[in-house]
Amino acid sequence: MKSVTIIVKYSDLSRFSLAYVLSILENYSISRRFVKNIILARDVVNEVLKCDSDIIVVMYSLMTPQIFDVEIIEELKMLRDLRKTHDLVLIAGGPHASGDPVGTLLRLGFDIAVLREGEITIPRLLDALVSYEDLRDVPNIVYRDGEKIIKTLDYIPDKIYTSCPYVDRFRIYAPLEIMRGCKHACKYCQTPRIYMFKVRYRSLDEIYRWCRHYYKIGIKTIRYLAPNGFAYGSKDCKRPNIKALENMLKTSYEAVEGKSKLVLGTFPSEVRPDFINRDVLEVVSKYVDNKKISIGVQTGSNRLLNYIGRGHNIECVYEAVDLCLEYGYTPCLDFIFGLPGETEEDVEITSKVMLEFAKKGCIIRGHTFMPLPGTPFENEKPGKIHPKYLETLREIEKLKRLEGYWREQEELAEKIHKYIIESLSLRSSVTLECYR
Ligand code: SF4
Repeated sequence: MKSVTIIVKYSDLSRFSLAYVLSILENYSISRRFVKNIILARDVVNEVLKCDSDIIVVMYSLMTPQIFDVEIIEELKMLRDLRKTHDLVLIAGGPHASGDPVGTLLRLGFDIAVLREGEITIPRLLDALVSYEDLRDVPNIVYRDGEKIIKTLDYIPDKIYTSCPYVDRFRIYAPLEIMRGCKHACKYCQTPRIYMFKVRYRSLDEIYRWCRHYYKIGIKTIRYLAPNGFAYGSKDCKRPNIKALENMLKTSYEAVEGKSKLVLGTFPSEVRPDFINRDVLEVVSKYVDNKKISIGVQTGSNRLLNYIGRGHNIECVYEAVDLCLEYGYTPCLDFIFGLPGETEEDVEITSKVMLEFAKKGCIIRGHTFMPLPGTPFENEKPGKIHPKYLETLREIEKLKRLEGYWREQEELAEKIHKYIIESLSLRSSVTLECYR
């Protein structure tokens, strides 16, 4: 059997998902003696040049902004050249590969795009690569076969198979993923589409084990990872499951013997406003240590909230904010400027709403709309910040209630839009063969 080295690209932006990928690879290598080494590297090219395995697999987890990173562009170019002299397979996963698999292969030069569910797909993919088998039986991938682009079966199991937020050997400790996927349909968001609107939760056993491990090795703060922090255990993903949420927090609390901090409801486990009510805050305030709660609002206009598919109105945000303040939390409210379909009236309303919230003591976190691949808004124009917003943001800044990277995102949105338009014409020029 040929020997294999797997090199995982390290980047700060995808560090949370890398922990899970590395844990899948560690588990995989236990029973596969042909895996010579698993390497986590910033400089992937250097590792490839040093490597003497028969097969080298290089894995990236990509978010769309990273495809404009000059260092990554250069590195991919060098890796494509190294394919001429090495048996090298380039694999991309993460939200960008899921949203634009064809562009990931044809424009970025990867051999295989993994769309989701690394726990199932990565071991089967590596087995198939090492034994030079047909990849058609590996679920959740898109790959090149000569001139053809092949998409295999979409497969999402009912539970999340075992993976871990940490790998001690690499000293990488990510927030605990307690929930995967979302049933809401916000049109700018990749998350529900990656997992095809299916939602799963981590078991209490796993959460206990992870918290316990973090506690024992001296990690003083437990953070959680979830698309909607207070939704743990919710059956329909539309309303909170208080009992399940309490069990999860109590389990964590017991695992750390009440001595580590628990952080839920702020990055990377922000919450929807319709999941904030008195019962939820009673439970949360018993266990969590954060003093801020991050809430996705996006716009102050009910018309626009409805158009972008948020599934809640602005009145619900007012109720959530008042409750958070009553319980002693500072609400941090996310707004997106330049959403598709935004009118002058929406801008007026949103500006007024933001200012009102800032005066109540909320932090306003501004974002610019970016048309992400794989979303219903991928063809939309990039977000532009209306002058009225700039004026309002200046006022909010004076109140010292402003955060966000909306300026940088405005530039990035332009680049993404240009990329998507080029990718769309490429997508229409290739035939995707699908296997089910
Ligand atoms: S923005 Fe949040 S609630 Fe909306 S679809 Fe995405 S993850 Fe779900």
